[in-house]
Amino acid sequence: MPSVYAIIKLVELMTENKTIFGKMVDGEIPTTPLYEDEHCIVINDISPQAPTHVLIIPKVKDLPRLSDANESHQALLGHLLLVAGRISMQLGVSDAFRLIVNNGKDAGQTVFHLHLHILAGKSFNEGALSNAFE
Ligand code: AMP
Repeated sequence: MPSVYAIIKLVELMTENKTIFGKMVDGEIPTTPLYEDEHCIVINDISPQAPTHVLIIPKVKDLPRLSDANESHQALLGHLLLVAGRISMQLGVSDAFRLIVNNGKDAGQTVFHLHLHILAGKSFNEGALSNAFE
């Protein structure tokens, strides 16, 4: 049986290791979600790369990258896609948006808590796929 001290230390360690999105999900960093349900929050990106740029952030904390997902995350991943479609309608961009998941540092991921970007409100074309953030 671990001591109370050990448990407190463990909680502190887990808190320190939390990403900014983990802290938002836990309410440690105040945020005003555009949408929230039991599985995810949707927020405006702090540094928008398009007129509409929102982030869909799952509430689970065991999923730093999409490639870390396993069978237990299947329903959640489906839910996030459904939310993306619904939010696109809510934001009036359902006719044209990009859905992006950066997976890993070299792919441009900076926050290691899975999240989906919805980008819309400007023209994208297939040729610009590799420059989605430029
Ligand atoms: P990624 O590079 O795919 O990991 O995306 C991380 C995104 O989080 C970037 O687009 C950042 O602009 C965004 N971001 C970082 N901190 C915040 C914050 N406090 N509130 C909203 N968006 C943030």
